[in-house]
Amino acid sequence: MNVTMSEQKVKITLPDGSVKEYKKGISGYEIALSISEGLARNVLAAKINGEVWDATRAINKDATVQLLTWNDVEGKSTFWHSSAHLMAEALEALYPGIKFGIGPPVETGFYYDVDFGDQEFDAADLDKVEEKMNELARQKNEYLREEIPKKEAVAFFKEKGDEYKLELLEDLEDGSISFYKQGNFTDLCRGPHIPNTGLIKAIKLTNVAGAYWRGDENRKQLTRLYGVTFPKKKELDEYLELLEEAKKRDHRKLGRELELFAFSEKVGQGLPLWLPKGTELREKLTNFLKRAQVKAGYEGVITPHIGSKNLYVTSGHYEKYGEDSFRPIHTPNQNEEFLLKPMNCPHHCEIYKTRPRSYKELPLRLAEFGTVYRYEQSGELHGLTRVRGFTQDDAHIFCRPDQVKEEFKKVIDLVLYVFKSLGFDDFITQISLRDPENKEKYIGDDDAWNKAEKAIIEATEEKGLNTVTVLGEAAFYGPKLDFMVKDALKRSWQLGTIQVDYNLPKRFELEYIGADNQKHQPVMIHRAPFGSMERFVAILLEHTGGKFPLWLSPVQYIILPISEKYGEYANEVNQQLSLKDFTGHVDHRDEKIGRKIRDAELNKIPYMFIVGEKEAISGTVAIRKQGEGDIGSYNKEELLSFMSMEIDKSLASVPLS
Ligand SMILES: [Zn+2]
Ligand SMILES: [Zn+2]
Repeated sequence: MNVTMSEQKVKITLPDGSVKEYKKGISGYEIALSISEGLARNVLAAKINGEVWDATRAINKDATVQLLTWNDVEGKSTFWHSSAHLMAEALEALYPGIKFGIGPPVETGFYYDVDFGDQEFDAADLDKVEEKMNELARQKNEYLREEIPKKEAVAFFKEKGDEYKLELLEDLEDGSISFYKQGNFTDLCRGPHIPNTGLIKAIKLTNVAGAYWRGDENRKQLTRLYGVTFPKKKELDEYLELLEEAKKRDHRKLGRELELFAFSEKVGQGLPLWLPKGTELREKLTNFLKRAQVKAGYEGVITPHIGSKNLYVTSGHYEKYGEDSFRPIHTPNQNEEFLLKPMNCPHHCEIYKTRPRSYKELPLRLAEFGTVYRYEQSGELHGLTRVRGFTQDDAHIFCRPDQVKEEFKKVIDLVLYVFKSLGFDDFITQISLRDPENKEKYIGDDDAWNKAEKAIIEATEEKGLNTVTVLGEAAFYGPKLDFMVKDALKRSWQLGTIQVDYNLPKRFELEYIGADNQKHQPVMIHRAPFGSMERFVAILLEHTGGKFPLWLSPVQYIILPISEKYGEYANEVNQQLSLKDFTGHVDHRDEKIGRKIRDAELNKIPYMFIVGEKEAISGTVAIRKQGEGDIGSYNKEELLSFMSMEIDKSLASVPLS
């Protein structure tokens, strides 16, 4: 009797380590209910022994259980995936006979690919679908899981006439097939889903696009409907507000308005033209990083924009980029072939090799703002974030294996200094390591990998970084550390990669003479805090909305003469400021002072110096701060020290170790 009793129980380990006994067949939802009703209301799914399940699915064995809510990434994706089912249910109710492809969650929201057959559908119909979804959500229909034999599943979709689901079924093995039903809708799906549709309280369908079935352009084009949903109306409102703000901050729009960069059909797609103000901004960024790099022991190098094909055959880049990239450049000499530089690394390897190296001179840190060219399909091009020619803030560190950790710590310091100075306070780091099950996939010896992985982990720990570690995400040539930054609109961007490389030192036969008088292979570390100047400026524009910190502002001040009578005096003040490297100009337009102030405010110019009769006589300026108004009258010396102080204040004082 006792034996049977104990068989009816399961041991559940919760994330805090506590172990509780429950009756066999308990669900994540019921476990939540045993903790608190509030928690149960918010449970979307449950992670059982590391696998995400329906919160309502029975647990029949001892397990570790984590309850997932809206605050968990996997909770959100379960919510959005379940919303795709709800959208499909609404669509089927409105357009009987339509067929469905796949309906996964995406970073924000979900989509479903639909074959509308002969029925018409366009963006104007989205409202109607939204309305139907709301109606079905209010019915609080449960998502019911059913495991069925493959034969039955095939029969179901044959009867329904959905060739897409039938094709998906072909790839599945018998015994692993599950159906999910909610309301009147049944779908082939692995799951998991949220307990019921009633949890979906706010719905917005955002877009309609075409998408080839299975991403194959030779197959039928389906209609892809995108949407996003939330458990609270307030969250949808906030999301829509951010979306609106994102439109206003679109870097392509701001770049045009602030006259930073432009594109010309004649020059070519994906090839940005930097205008004077954009160039000023970019040079300030470049100089800022250059100064920090000098302090951190980097040495600058310059290499050409093209390189012989052989260079890239050696590096392996020809194999990687050769076919799908810009084609080789030929000279009148038949045997000569060059490629546009896709990467700076091979050139830097050759700099390393210009003479024998001793262990004493390592680490060698070679830095270059190097412009590279990569072919992108025209459909992939997007403002400054996807271009065909861009400048990396590149550097390669050649060091001994025992120096990897110290070098990582130094690069982390540099990256943090950059982030802090530019107002990116919200970031996490991802450590990408080998897949321990498939070590043969990776180049370089096992011992070196273990040491480098340990060095990265320890470096991030010692720097107190908030990290996630992902196994199997390392490149075949080495482990890496990535910085993921959240911008002001809560979007994630990958910035700043630090990458260990065992491949290039081998391909280029790099070596140094060790303390033992023997030849050794150095470790190479690639790193770029900005990534590329183009993409970084785009992110910075959208993060700041074009309101840069003063030190970086391409136009730090504007001098506004009250009338042209004071134009000469304004020029004099301007000259003194530019002699001290402050950047700005005089507004000589024949406009009223009120209009000039308004325009300067609109252009987000941080400081306005107003000069009229009083100022010209006393040798002063009246300062106005953007968004704040008058802050007083300063003579020329006071003005210069005021500007220096303001610029220092706008630069973070993070020590660089
Ligand atoms: Zn599903
Ligand atoms: Zn590199």
